Amino acid sequence: MSFMIRTWFSLVALSFAAPLSAQEGPDDGSNADAIMAIKGLQLLDQRMNAIGYRLVDANAAYCDQKTARTGLLLNDVAQYADQKTARSALGFDGSIGITAVAPDSPAETAKLSPGNTLRAINNMPIDEIDIDDPQLSREQPVYRRIAAINRALEKALAENNVQLTISQDGINRTVPIKPVLTCLGQFQIRVSADRNATADGKLVSVSSRLSEYFLNDDEFAAVIAHELAHNLLKHRDKLDAQSVNRSFFGQLGKSAGQIKSAEIEADQLSVWLMANAGYDPQAAVRFWTRYGKEHGKGIFSASTHYRWKKRVELFEEEMAKMAKMQPVDGKYTPPLLVKMN
Ligand SMILES: [Zn+2]
Repeated sequence: MSFMIRTWFSLVALSFAAPLSAQEGPDDGSNADAIMAIKGLQLLDQRMNAIGYRLVDANAAYCDQKTARTGLLLNDVAQYADQKTARSALGFDGSIGITAVAPDSPAETAKLSPGNTLRAINNMPIDEIDIDDPQLSREQPVYRRIAAINRALEKALAENNVQLTISQDGINRTVPIKPVLTCLGQFQIRVSADRNATADGKLVSVSSRLSEYFLNDDEFAAVIAHELAHNLLKHRDKLDAQSVNRSFFGQLGKSAGQIKSAEIEADQLSVWLMANAGYDPQAAVRFWTRYGKEHGKGIFSASTHYRWKKRVELFEEEMAKMAKMQPVDGKYTPPLLVKMN
């Protein structure tokens, strides 16, 4: 399942910088801007959840490590400055609910939908889930409850059949949900004024500002697939094992070459991941050409990343390799993942 640890609630809070007490009020449209902002972010979350799910599901056969996933995304209203407005914008009866359901996922088959409030996992009320687990101590307090619930759900899913109790408009129902095994990966939109996408080994994160540049889901998938490729190829662990300095100074020395090799591999693998998930791999070419022309080397250092023209050449080379292959069930085995297994 896709974890979603919000880092953007404080930005949402910042953009409505009125005192909390002034924001609590009748739902008379006075907080229409806050509702619009929350719904706008929810739409971005839903796109990212859908694209991430499709990429890890479609490429599952080629991943050495797998996780049981439902395709739903949970959110905790405690992360918002104005919880009443958040609950109303997200359509929740309670505090923890579903904000996204990936198309063609087990969550969709189980008829779960955004706006459902989560009440229990295998009859264990979510209020009784332990949030003082020492393993959650690195989470900021406001994220601990959602992290604990995501972990409880992940644990239950690993044992296969799960019953979720949800409520909508005050009516409870319990639904069985059977997860599917997919590649590892978590996906999150990070509200930020910088244009960036990152991979930390598990989590793929795309900034809200960068996502404004995607003309369609194929372009969005190109960036998610590049970051997911870093995680599937375990680049962070490998670079750490080689004591590569990933900081600013790392861009100057010997580390730059090792980072650049990782970037080349992520570009190469990304178009295979996209094609297998039914996204147009040419979107990687279109996105980086347009972005490159507008921003030059932009957010990427010239010493660690190829400039956009070289990156486009890499995409074209990989697509030429695919064109010579005979797909099996519409899929191409990515050479870089074969090497991992
Ligand atoms: Zn990269």
